Amino acid sequence: MSILRFDNVSKRYASGRTALSDVSFEVRAGEMLFITGHSGAGKSTLLKLIHLSERPSSGVVLYADRNLAKVRGPRVALHRREVGVVFQDHRLLTDRTVADNVALPLVLRGERRGETGKRVRSVLDRVGLGDRANALPGQLSAGEQQRVGIARAIVAEPRLLVADEPTGNLDPTLSAEIMGLFESLPGRGTSVMIASHDLSLVKRMKKRVLVLDHGRLADDISPEDLAA
Ligand code: ADP
Ligand code: ADP
Repeated sequence: MSILRFDNVSKRYASGRTALSDVSFEVRAGEMLFITGHSGAGKSTLLKLIHLSERPSSGVVLYADRNLAKVRGPRVALHRREVGVVFQDHRLLTDRTVADNVALPLVLRGERRGETGKRVRSVLDRVGLGDRANALPGQLSAGEQQRVGIARAIVAEPRLLVADEPTGNLDPTLSAEIMGLFESLPGRGTSVMIASHDLSLVKRMKKRVLVLDHGRLADDISPEDLAA
């Protein structure tokens, strides 16, 4: 089953800058893949088209067979709740505890308090922060903060998780740790797409890699090809 499909997608910003040109690919349910390419290649733009921060200039984006062009108005918020997003700067609320930050997607969708508490504890355990629930983000290390960002993105059990340079601010050891965390997700039915310009890190993961070059899909490398 396909969770995401890009058909001949192009994106030209109002400035006249073409960020994506005629990009087509498909992501299967449960698949994990990387999007790589130089700065400015179009990685962020591609992810923005998935969580509807931007719209394509031409072409079609299908999410779970739903044409995202038809997702407008209040349905945009509903779509965003189905797609988990991890940012490089994690965008945590600094005046709320770790647990409150992670609970946010559940609170927004009106989940009951008991259920919310249970899920938050479980997901914090999974990312190894079970004992930091009541800390404020500022009291955590960079790697821990990113793990909170991931916990928040997965707490509502999204079918698709997109991450934009999630290890951009982390040293190699922490980066590998965070990637290991992402790697454990597809088994739970979540597809994962990670944008990263860190080619050596991407290669070590031995997953499918989409290579963007000046907005064009220059390569779509399978894990088998990567090994060869
Ligand atoms: P990457 O994530 O690979 O660094 P981006 O998707 O951020 O690439 O950017 C692709 C191209 O689009 C770049 O040339 C960038 O300057 C341009 N771009 C990105 N966002 C905007 C925007 N909001 N308005 C105009 N140009 C943009
Ligand atoms: P991020 O993806 O980190 O949230 P942005 O989306 O703001 O950052 O920017 C992504 C890239 O696009 C950056 O390289 C930025 O310089 C470029 N960019 C963003 N907005 C514009 C714009 N209005 N015009 C040109 N380039 C832009």
